[in-house]
Amino acid sequence: MKYLEEFQNPELARRLLDEIRATVTRPWALMEVCGGQTHTIIRHGIDQLLPDEVELIHGPGCPVCVTPLEVIDKALEIAARPDVIFCSFGDMLRVPGSDRDLFQVRSRGGDVRVVYSPLDALKIAQQNPHREVVFFGIGFETTAPPNAMTVHQARKLGIPNFSLLVSHVRVPPAIEAIMTSPSCRVQAFLAAGHVCSVMGMGEYPELADRFQVPIVVTGFEPLDILEGVRRTVRQLERGEHTVDNAYPRAVRSEGNPAAQAMLADVFEVTDRAWRGIGTIPASGWRLSERYRDYDAEYRFSVDGITTREPAACRSGEVLQGLIKPHECEAFGTACTPRSPLGATMVSSEGACAAYYLYRRLGTTPTPQEASPVA
Ligand code: SF4
Repeated sequence: MKYLEEFQNPELARRLLDEIRATVTRPWALMEVCGGQTHTIIRHGIDQLLPDEVELIHGPGCPVCVTPLEVIDKALEIAARPDVIFCSFGDMLRVPGSDRDLFQVRSRGGDVRVVYSPLDALKIAQQNPHREVVFFGIGFETTAPPNAMTVHQARKLGIPNFSLLVSHVRVPPAIEAIMTSPSCRVQAFLAAGHVCSVMGMGEYPELADRFQVPIVVTGFEPLDILEGVRRTVRQLERGEHTVDNAYPRAVRSEGNPAAQAMLADVFEVTDRAWRGIGTIPASGWRLSERYRDYDAEYRFSVDGITTREPAACRSGEVLQGLIKPHECEAFGTACTPRSPLGATMVSSEGACAAYYLYRRLGTTPTPQEASPVA
């Protein structure tokens, strides 16, 4: 399959690994920001193939994992209302809230539906004019434009019974938060190619310069990751810190202007809480004043929620790259994809799920666990 098999070629992978081995002279810690990249790395054992000097630290780039518990509890409260059809991507249904998940809301009579696009939810709203239809809009710069477009479309078509529960986050402020953390060990970043295909690379040179870190825009196939690591290690060894595009087949430096215009029309930048990390200034989007009528948080007034995180879950440390998933005492015992304590064990992009599914570490996943998305 074009753009997939050719980027999984073992011979080319060996050559890239040889180049990395020939270049590296001392230890370096690189963070891959995106959860999709984490899964490629663990699935193909890339971290084990790299020389010992190159450590890959898994970053907070799983959208499901960083959605704050308070927002999940709000989703659960809205979804349980009899007048609501609550629509979401499948990943979110098993993410534990403080005392239940969306599956449990559905089993108790809530109308919770899995959709494959926010436009599917809009169509459900058109077909059910006497019900309120809410779409759970989470994720990074990649999922925000279609959600923005759907709200834009709802207003254009005059569909009043549609709203969005928004928890969108932005990558550059997260990089800044990681670099200013006192416990930070990261010396370079593999930036997420799909985010840059939307937003371009314009926000990165200032970060690379201020924190003296190479930032290499990288794709998602094994050769993409290895090429990203090769370019990053070369910069580190030379004492350079520039922004480099190792994913030119998808990323242009200016990104996608049409998607950016849609984001600017519908959303505005806001401070956003990240699960396990805390509030990061200017790290998210919310609906702008013009579209506030479509904001589910305003429509359903779900304030005053008290959250309860499971004490055993160390997903905040996992998301910040401070521990690897198997260093959590609950990993594979009290916490598995079938019975997750934290979102990082649920999501198809979560680091704990990746370690459980691909590295296994003495436990064998059941067929249901090997396919955690509902
Ligand atoms: S293994 Fe489970 S309990 Fe431990 S950090 Fe990951 S999600 Fe949380």
